[in-house]
Amino acid sequence: MEAILRARLGPGACLKVAQLDAVRALQQGRDCLATLPTGFGKSMVYQLPAMWREEIDRPGVTVVVTPLLSLLRDQLRGCEDLDLNAAAWCGTADKRDTERIDRDLRLDADDGGPGIRLLYTTPESLGSNARLRDALRACARNGFLTSIAVDEAHCVASWGHDFRPAYLALKDFRDDVAGHGVPFQALTATATPRVKEQIVSALGLRDPALVATSLNRPNLRYEVIRRESVIGGGHSEVGTGVGTGVGTEDVALAHLAAMAKETKERWPGSAGIVYARTRAECERLAALLQDKHDVDCEVFHAGRTGEALARTQGNWAGGDLHCVVATVAFGMGVDKADVRFVSHWGPPTTLEGLYQESGRAGRDSKPARCVMYVGSNELDELRKVTGGGGEAYAAVEAYARGVARCRRIGLLEHFGERRAGGCGEGEERCDVCADPDAVRRAAAAADRISDGAAERRMEDARVAAEEDTRGGTAGGGDWKRRRVEIAVRARRVPLVPTQHRPPVPPGRPLGSRKFVPPMKGTKYRLKQ
Ligand SMILES: [Zn+2]
Repeated sequence: MEAILRARLGPGACLKVAQLDAVRALQQGRDCLATLPTGFGKSMVYQLPAMWREEIDRPGVTVVVTPLLSLLRDQLRGCEDLDLNAAAWCGTADKRDTERIDRDLRLDADDGGPGIRLLYTTPESLGSNARLRDALRACARNGFLTSIAVDEAHCVASWGHDFRPAYLALKDFRDDVAGHGVPFQALTATATPRVKEQIVSALGLRDPALVATSLNRPNLRYEVIRRESVIGGGHSEVGTGVGTGVGTEDVALAHLAAMAKETKERWPGSAGIVYARTRAECERLAALLQDKHDVDCEVFHAGRTGEALARTQGNWAGGDLHCVVATVAFGMGVDKADVRFVSHWGPPTTLEGLYQESGRAGRDSKPARCVMYVGSNELDELRKVTGGGGEAYAAVEAYARGVARCRRIGLLEHFGERRAGGCGEGEERCDVCADPDAVRRAAAAADRISDGAAERRMEDARVAAEEDTRGGTAGGGDWKRRRVEIAVRARRVPLVPTQHRPPVPPGRPLGSRKFVPPMKGTKYRLKQ
C-alpha cells in the first residue's frame, strides 16, 4: 500500500496508523467508523484502496457520499492529482456526464467491469435519482460495488450540529440497492460519544471497527474574550456605555483588529477568518473593522451573489485578501494551510461547531489563534433560541464563562477524550493556562458590567410595564408586568408598591390601545 502511495504522492508520503487501521477494516469487509480530525487526511481512507485496485487492475467502485457540492469538486480535483479515475453524480451534473457514468457503472465482467473507481455523490441524489440507483444496482449485481464511504457522517445525527435528513436514507440504500454485504466507511472529524452512537445506529453499522485519533491540535491557542470587559486598558472605562455595547465593544473590536494586523505583519500572505452569527452582523462588523481599524477584510455570506462569493474566496485563498468576516457558510471544504487565526464574534451554537470552525486555523502545524469574543447578552440570546438551554448550550456556556479550566482540556473532554492538567509541553497555551489571574479578573469585570446592564434592563421593563398597565393595554401590560415579576422573583427580591396603586380610570374599555398618559403616584422600589 505504501509503495502505491509513494508512487502517486511522492517519496515522502506515508500512512498514519489510524488511516491504516481504517483501510485494513475495509479490506476485511468490515464496517468502520473513523473519527479523524480536520487536516488528518480522511479521504485517503477510501482513496488508497481505490488506487490499490487500480494498480492491480481489479475493477470496483466506491460510492462516496458527501454533503456539499464544493467539497465534491475539491475532492475531484484531488483525485486528478492522484491520477485516480473518479466521477461525480449530483443535481448539477451535466447530462452527458451522467450518461457516461451510467454506461460505465453497468459494464459487466465480460467488458472488464467499470473503469470508475470513486463515484462522488450527495445523499439527496442517492435517495431520489432513480437512474443513479438503477445503475448502482446493476453495478452491485455484477459484484463491482465494493464499499460506501460516508463523509461528514455526523450529519446523520438528528440533534447534531449539521443534521441532514437525507443521510438517514443511506441505511436503506445499502440494504436495497448496494447489497447488505457492502461495507460502510463512516467518516467524521468531530463526534461526541453520543453522536458516534447515533451514527452507528442510524447507518446500521454492524460491529464496526472504531478508528479514532486524538482530536488535540497542539498548535492552536484557544482564548475567550468577554466583550463586556475591558481588556488591557485598565478598568477606568468600566461603567461607561453599559447596556448599549458602546465603549465595551470598541475594546473587543480593537483586540480583534490588532490580532489581524499582527498576524498579517508576522506571516505575510497568511489569512484569518472571523465568524459572526448573522448576515447583518457580518456586514456591520466588517464595516467597523474596515472603517475604524483599516483591516483588510471582506464579508462572505449567502446573501451575496455567487460571483462575489467566488471572488472573495479566491482572493482569500490566494493570499490577496487577509481576512473574511463570514457566517458558518464559509469554510466547509476550504483548504488553506496558513490560516493564522479564527475568531468567533459571538458564541457558536455548539462546541462541535467551535471545534470544527477553529480547526480551520493552523493546518500547516504552525501556531495559530482561536479567539471567541462573547458577551453575557449573547449567551442569554443563545439560551433562548436553543429552547431554554439543554446540553449543547450548557457546553458552550461552560466554555465561554469558564475561568478555572484549561480550554483545550474542556474541548477534548466534550468529545470524550479525558486528560489531566492543562496545556502541556509543545502545546500553545490557552488563555487560562497562560495567565489564570488575568482571565479571572477580566471575567469578574465582565460579570459586573453585565449584571449592571441586566439591572437596567429590568428597571426599563418595570417602567414600561407600569406605563403599559396604566395605558390600559391589558394584554401587553399584564405580560410585561409578569415578566418583571418573574425577573424580580428570580433575584429573590420582593417587589412592593410604595403606595397603593390607583384604580384604573373608569369608562376606558379593557384592552384598548388608546394612549392614556400615565398617572402619577405609583412607584415601585426593590425591598432590601
Ligand atoms: Zn490550557
